[in-house]
Amino acid sequence: MDIYQELGVEPIINAVGPATRLSGSIMHPEVAEAMRQASERCVDIAQMQARAGEIIAEITGAEAGYVTSGAAAGLLLGTAACVTGLDPGKMNRLPDTSGMKNEVIMARSHRNFYDHAVRSVGIELVEVGIADRFSGAGIRDAEGWEIEAAISERTAAIVYVAYAHTQPSLEEVVAAARKGGVPVIVDAAGQLPPASNLQRFMAAGADLVAFSGGKAIGGPQASGILCGRRDLIAAAALQHQDLDVMPELWEPPASLIDKSQLPGAPQHGIGRPCKVGKEEIAGLVKALRLFVAEDPAVRRQRWSALMEELVAACGTLRNAEIAVVADRKRVEIPTARLVLDEEAAGTTALELVKALQEGRPPIAANPTYVHEGAVIFGPMCLKEGEPEQIGRRLRELLG
Ligand SMILES: *Cc1c(COP(=O)(O)O)cnc(C)c1O
Repeated sequence: MDIYQELGVEPIINAVGPATRLSGSIMHPEVAEAMRQASERCVDIAQMQARAGEIIAEITGAEAGYVTSGAAAGLLLGTAACVTGLDPGKMNRLPDTSGMKNEVIMARSHRNFYDHAVRSVGIELVEVGIADRFSGAGIRDAEGWEIEAAISERTAAIVYVAYAHTQPSLEEVVAAARKGGVPVIVDAAGQLPPASNLQRFMAAGADLVAFSGGKAIGGPQASGILCGRRDLIAAAALQHQDLDVMPELWEPPASLIDKSQLPGAPQHGIGRPCKVGKEEIAGLVKALRLFVAEDPAVRRQRWSALMEELVAACGTLRNAEIAVVADRKRVEIPTARLVLDEEAAGTTALELVKALQEGRPPIAANPTYVHEGAVIFGPMCLKEGEPEQIGRRLRELLG
């Protein structure tokens, strides 16, 4: 009996991708094996983080790196680091930020549900610009000069959410931030592949970048990466590590935390609830190495093959067309797009997604474009044989 049978929890076919509500992605057996091995011995967790940080720094080109419990945790830790710097007194007071630099600037069009992680540090969000391009009449979004104008002596950081379509450009925002002397935190949670993005945001001048470990990297679902400036990574680590330790016995690895720069150790910090185990650190590092080692063409081919299989398994559908296309927002990831003639079919794309979700086994499809009558299927979390199962179900539903 496998663990899901033992628990009485039904596995699903995940044609959406590594979404948290769908339990993330499927780990490579080598990643699971790294986690199993890590689980068999105890280590000094700060040393484990310091070593992982060196490997992350090497791969990202950042000064320093750290393993978080996800990109959202990275945003929380990174924001806290920008607010407190290396001051343990300030760390102890969070989320009370009175008297500190406690404003974080974001373009209004970048606001999203994950910025709760930024706000939870106790900062005030300063929104900039109007996403006028989303109105029929408008074409403009937030601009670099508006970000620069919003910087004050209270600004702790600028948070930038990276997508291929994000405006203004990161380069413009970095230029504005440099003039104002404030750090830029990039939310790059899902911006992989391409693997080159592991370095791109750092190279463009970001001070901190957060990635998800559980998305395309294929690491443990509850893992992530924060990389960037050494002092900020140290400040993040100080607000994350277990510091229930006698001062005489506290010897953090110097590459992670330079004790000589500190008047003393802070208490458990605001990041302590986002704890990361040795298993996640081991799994994330293994997954990251596998991810950068895989030839992008081979990865793409593997994903394309799954999508071609799905299209072939559908045969000819009544009142619907399905084809492999590049997702408009993520061109590196081939997807299958099913377009339904809703009137002829007597059902809507949204109803189709719901019917797939309610079948046995449940199939999760991407509803982002149902308003256009389209349902998207993605390859990232599909196992062999599953495209065939989805095709069969679609034939049943659409005749
Ligand atoms: C997925 C995502 C996050 C959260 O990442 P986790 O690793 O699940 O914490 C944050 N921001 C954006 C833009 C995301 O897509």
